[in-house]
Amino acid sequence: MPRKGQKMSIESKERIRQSSLGRKFSDITREKLRQSLLGHKVSEDTRRKIVENRKIKHLTEEWKMNISKGNKGKIRSEEARMKYKMCQKGAKNSQYINGKYCRKLDKNIRETKEYLRWRSDVFKRDNYICQNCGISGCYIEAHHKKAFVLIFEDFLKEYQSLDMKIDKDVLCLLAVRYKPFWEIDNGLTLCRNCHINTRKRSD
Ligand SMILES: [Zn+2]
Repeated sequence: MPRKGQKMSIESKERIRQSSLGRKFSDITREKLRQSLLGHKVSEDTRRKIVENRKIKHLTEEWKMNISKGNKGKIRSEEARMKYKMCQKGAKNSQYINGKYCRKLDKNIRETKEYLRWRSDVFKRDNYICQNCGISGCYIEAHHKKAFVLIFEDFLKEYQSLDMKIDKDVLCLLAVRYKPFWEIDNGLTLCRNCHINTRKRSD
């Protein structure tokens, strides 16, 4: 075992990880761990490393399942709930355009036949192969080179006299005729992982 201040080898870390997999801590141990980590300061360097790591790694399906299992039935404090609500609010939310929420219209456009056709045309042109890593035979998505949300913004500006709620159906019909939505050149076939990474880079 390394002494205090000494760095652990990757093998030792892996051994610890393996041995603690699936282990359940008692409430007392958990509380002890919590207490020992309270006030534990993470250096700038470590913090930066954590952020970098997060950018590179994406969660495997199994990992996601575990997180979701762990979160099930968890009761969040009012404060935590508010914090989450606030960070999703307003301009920080991708469905918030021109000062309004337009989740429904956005969804309606993405459910039109034209949207499905656009997507399958992009896939066909790219031979169903991820244009970033070259992988094929896996789940693929159509990436918008110019973000869908930006095209949506332009579209709404063009028809700003119409109301997103009241004239939703009219706007949906107009969207079908709005060429920028359906440019095949604006689409790119990507596998799920590459798509997530592309989105992170453009954030
Ligand atoms: Zn890929």
